[in-house]
Amino acid sequence: MTTGAGHFEDTYRATKLDGAINWGCFSIKKRRLIGGFQVGCYVVEDFDGDKSGYRHWTYFAMCNHGSKSGGADTRKNVIIQAKMSMDYCSQCASLFETHLK
Ligand SMILES: [Zn+2]
Repeated sequence: MTTGAGHFEDTYRATKLDGAINWGCFSIKKRRLIGGFQVGCYVVEDFDGDKSGYRHWTYFAMCNHGSKSGGADTRKNVIIQAKMSMDYCSQCASLFETHLK
């Protein structure tokens, strides 16, 4: 797990090294409920991918399949969304099903 300050290049470099699929990730974690698959928390302003639909938000979560959560205003809320990737990613949902057994 790698977590650091948002809006900070060293954090983004470290999360990329740890497996984040885009720039702008301030926290990446292997999620136990989906078998250790990684989900990151991203700062919209610094995200280097498609930001359409997120410009009014500060953060969103995105799993390493590339599926994004809804937007969030606080770190606390985006971390909650990072734990719920099975709700917005069908591939995480099937990982979740597999690891329930
Ligand atoms: Zn996923």
